[in-house]
Amino acid sequence: MHVFGSSGVRGVAGEELTPQDAMQVAQATGSVWATDADRVAVARDTRTTGRTYENAVTSGFTGLGFNVDRLGIVPTPGLQAYCEGEGVPGLMVTASHNPPAYNGIKLVGADGVELSRETLDEIERALAAEPSHAGWDRMGTDRRVERARRDYRADVCQSVDRERIAGADLTVVIDPGHGAGALTSPDLFRELGCTVHTVNAQPDGHFPGRNPEPVAATLGDLRSYVRATDADLGIAHDGDGDRAIFVDECGEHMDGSATLAALAAAELQAGDGVVSAVNASQRLVDVVEEAGASLSLTPIGSTYIVSRVLQRQAEGTHVAIAGEGNGGVLFPDYRIARDGGYTAARLCELLADRSASELVAPYDDYYNVRRNLHVDDESARESMLSGIESHATETAADLDTTDGWRLDYGDGWVLARPSGTEPVVRVYAEARTPERAEELAGQMVGAAERSG
Ligand code: MG
Repeated sequence: MHVFGSSGVRGVAGEELTPQDAMQVAQATGSVWATDADRVAVARDTRTTGRTYENAVTSGFTGLGFNVDRLGIVPTPGLQAYCEGEGVPGLMVTASHNPPAYNGIKLVGADGVELSRETLDEIERALAAEPSHAGWDRMGTDRRVERARRDYRADVCQSVDRERIAGADLTVVIDPGHGAGALTSPDLFRELGCTVHTVNAQPDGHFPGRNPEPVAATLGDLRSYVRATDADLGIAHDGDGDRAIFVDECGEHMDGSATLAALAAAELQAGDGVVSAVNASQRLVDVVEEAGASLSLTPIGSTYIVSRVLQRQAEGTHVAIAGEGNGGVLFPDYRIARDGGYTAARLCELLADRSASELVAPYDDYYNVRRNLHVDDESARESMLSGIESHATETAADLDTTDGWRLDYGDGWVLARPSGTEPVVRVYAEARTPERAEELAGQMVGAAERSG
């Protein structure tokens, strides 16, 4: 059993993940980093438990002899930018899109890239060993660093076509969902020359306005606000600001797969590589094919996508874009990091030519269904997975088991996989009609629930 899932460590704070656990993760991580570093950066999102966990990991590091730069509340891509700029590794206290009770840890190397599976395995081995401690005269200290958010915004501003965005005279509504993006995105888009309105934009770890996951069900306020202000675009982030999901100028939800396809269509040249996960939309498959690019699919989760991007780059492929339909997008020429603010700025560049609804209109003819099946305990989960496996092997469709069970029917596909971070089994389906997508999802859900 891995301590680190596909997106770091997550759990209900105080139960599945205690402050002591967090300190031990910092100690084990520090023991691996100690050969190359004597300073680390620590940041957090807005969760109510964030400061407690920040204090725990900071003590873990200083007790080993590291000096700690405490960046405070910063989006994960802001920590990654700081790590790359300073050449120091970093630890992010965040549970990303999970509900308020959760917290967790993401780890970043001194190059600003999240750690590879191999390094995480090394840290897991170190977790099993007795932690070492520095003597009283060798312990490190910590200091507040106030400039990380400002530097992150400046970095994004310099890396996009600011003139083009400002020239488009856009009005945007930003919904950071009370997360870390609340302290960066509103100012960022003002600096890019947009007129900015905000909703759910006070940092608040109780997440009073909406849950941190930016999905259609949680973005009703944003849709209303876009309509009420006659804005050109609504921009929503998750708790740590590495994802961006959009609302068009009519106040309609834009599917994350459609915006990924639109961003890819604008970015791709023949011969480029694209990396996505095994739940990749047919929209992306079509865009990649049309551009003469090539697509690699990985298990779901940013760790796998980042590893594959590095692998394809090492093979000499120019990876122009990577990411998933959940709004987590990487532009590797900029940085090998999912970045909600940068992604939204790149989308704004495209709005200089056409409206948001026109941008995704070519990708309207596919329909996605997602279901979360809650499991009460391990035996319910096992029984559900065995029902899914029987269905997958008995059905006349192409089966891919890269991560879970993906069945390709030609006119659509369905994927079932257990979540790495929550007690749910997720079912995804896509087809050219809503009825067919519902049918494919329904068959999979039926197989899973019959067994339970
Ligand atoms: Mg996130």
